[in-house]
Amino acid sequence: MPVTAVYFDGQQARRHEVMLSLDGDVLLLQGDAVERRVSLSALKIPPPLGNTPRLILFADGARCEIADNQGFAAMLPHAAASWLSGMENSWLYAMAALLLTLVLAAVAYLWGLPYAAREVADRLPDYVLVQMDNQFFASLDQTLLKPTALAPDRRQALGERLQGMSLPPGGVRPNRIEFRGSPGLGANAFALPGGSVVVLDQLVDLADNDEEVIAVLAHEMGHVSQRHAMRQMLQASVIGLAMAWYIGDVSSLLAAAPTALLQTRYSRDLERTADAFAADMLRINGIPVSRLADMLRKLEASHRPDATKTEKAELMIDYLSTHPNTEERIKSLRGR
Ligand SMILES: [Zn+2]
Repeated sequence: MPVTAVYFDGQQARRHEVMLSLDGDVLLLQGDAVERRVSLSALKIPPPLGNTPRLILFADGARCEIADNQGFAAMLPHAAASWLSGMENSWLYAMAALLLTLVLAAVAYLWGLPYAAREVADRLPDYVLVQMDNQFFASLDQTLLKPTALAPDRRQALGERLQGMSLPPGGVRPNRIEFRGSPGLGANAFALPGGSVVVLDQLVDLADNDEEVIAVLAHEMGHVSQRHAMRQMLQASVIGLAMAWYIGDVSSLLAAAPTALLQTRYSRDLERTADAFAADMLRINGIPVSRLADMLRKLEASHRPDATKTEKAELMIDYLSTHPNTEERIKSLRGR
């Protein structure tokens, strides 16, 4: 069966309506002021691409466009197949493509995302960090945090002592050190993405002396110095935004942001880095490194013993779950 096509001679823009037919291995074009006979082996026939018109390319620059894909496929079955449509039909290739996609996604997640988050976090200017933390404080103070009940002179003494301490190389002081109360969060201290540190009353109460409080804050300053919280937040928001986009609900993501922030779970590596920073900082300021290990032991005792499982589930924010591997950390600190 002949197939209708449009022929361009490659010299002029004029369209020629033609009919294509086959004579053995020779393609015949006949029609509107054209008559050509060309051996198939002298033609280029690009593989089909979806439903776009098929092309026949001639060696002299002329070309044919065929809108009738099915008719063309029937006339030239071997030219109709392509490696692409062949692959589309094969479940094996489909599985391989899926697997490759998953591997690429995993690589992007495990290496690309942390790398990008670190690069971005390191380049954010200070005023952005300060403003960001102001936003977090505004939000947290309305939800999870309450005003501190600590005596002003106790707060001032702790703050001044901390600000007066020498920092190890690469150390950065927090933008703000803020004291807050929060019965639900228990003894806790955490760094915000912008580099502020929040200390909860219960943590100060749990400590036997200021050095133990400072030991925990030195650890948080380790997180601040390397912008760990910012890196975690950037990574989580990329994933969160992707999920919100998929689910189609961004508002619930934004509503959950402050809580999600406090549930950030640091990786073993980040904890180790923050502990190493704290140990250095304590040592150069003449404070025994064991203060941090002592405090970790107390934090563990304060968070673990009397909480039932359901209480645990409700008490979403827990120093030990955001700072995992307590036993390992204590052992490592004792060795310093
Ligand atoms: Zn930590």
